[in-house]
Amino acid sequence: MIIDGNKTAAKLREDLKKKIIDLKSTYNSLPGLTVILVGNDHASKIYVKNKEKFSKEVGINSEVIRYPENIDESIILNKILELNKNKKISGILVQLPLPKHINKKKVIEAILPTKDVDGFHPLNVGHLSSGYDSRIPCTPLGCLLLLKKVEKNLTGKHAVIIGRSNLNGRPMAQLLLKENCTVTITHSKTKDLKGICNKADIIVAAAGKPKLVKGDWVKKNAIVIDVGINKTDSGIVGDVDFDEVSKVVHAITPVPGGVGPMTIACLLNNTVECFKRSNS
Ligand code: NAD
Repeated sequence: MIIDGNKTAAKLREDLKKKIIDLKSTYNSLPGLTVILVGNDHASKIYVKNKEKFSKEVGINSEVIRYPENIDESIILNKILELNKNKKISGILVQLPLPKHINKKKVIEAILPTKDVDGFHPLNVGHLSSGYDSRIPCTPLGCLLLLKKVEKNLTGKHAVIIGRSNLNGRPMAQLLLKENCTVTITHSKTKDLKGICNKADIIVAAAGKPKLVKGDWVKKNAIVIDVGINKTDSGIVGDVDFDEVSKVVHAITPVPGGVGPMTIACLLNNTVECFKRSNS
């Protein structure tokens, strides 16, 4: 089974569009998303363009604030403080990575937790790891929704997460713990990754290593979610060797067309959730 991220994301956007029409008639206002983009990173520019495009498609008021690479950190921080106070803005996202001279932690912590659509603010991270309701980072949320397309009840499954980044691996592990999975977090220093993957019912690969997971790493009934987006000479590939692994497992996401579109759809979802919270 190939898990179709494009189709699932399109359905999520369609549902959000309807929700936003209802919200507009209730509150006479629309959710607003501001994205801050610093510098000229090519991939970031494409992500931001797509975020803007799909925000507009579902009816979210969206704006992108662009700053040059050499911008002063204080200008970004002041802008965030201004956006925090602006009632028309439901969500604020600072596109990562930021240039080296800007303190990422300081920038993330400046965003009001209730407007933190990425779920990266320490308060939201803490809530998630305590098992409370919180803003869930977009990519892990997208992965969970794709997993649920295949298996509604994940209780008791052994989930192996490859990668421990704050963006992907760690929040993914927390989400799957909440789903009653037995979670193994692996990383670049893990010994015998293949042996660990061989025991997994679920694999979420977020290492940023092209075709790391091979056909003989997976068991027959496994579900494999490939977060990786790696530029290679033969095009964009995931962290999973799709040709090999798809022949073995029960279900797998492709790259592209798997997790990627879900990340943006989940960002829109988080923006709508922030809007609803601010009006409740
Ligand atoms: P990162 O570099 O911050 O973290 C990578 C993690 O993988 C680290 O914890 C590292 O220890 C681990 N790792 C590296 N090599 C490994 C190996 N050989 N074995 C086991 N673990 C290993 O990366 P990130 O920001 O989490 O992104 C990971 C991948 O996901 C990248 O390819 C990125 O482009 C992609 N990504 C995709 C989406 C999406 O929407 N699909 C969103 C964000 C990131």
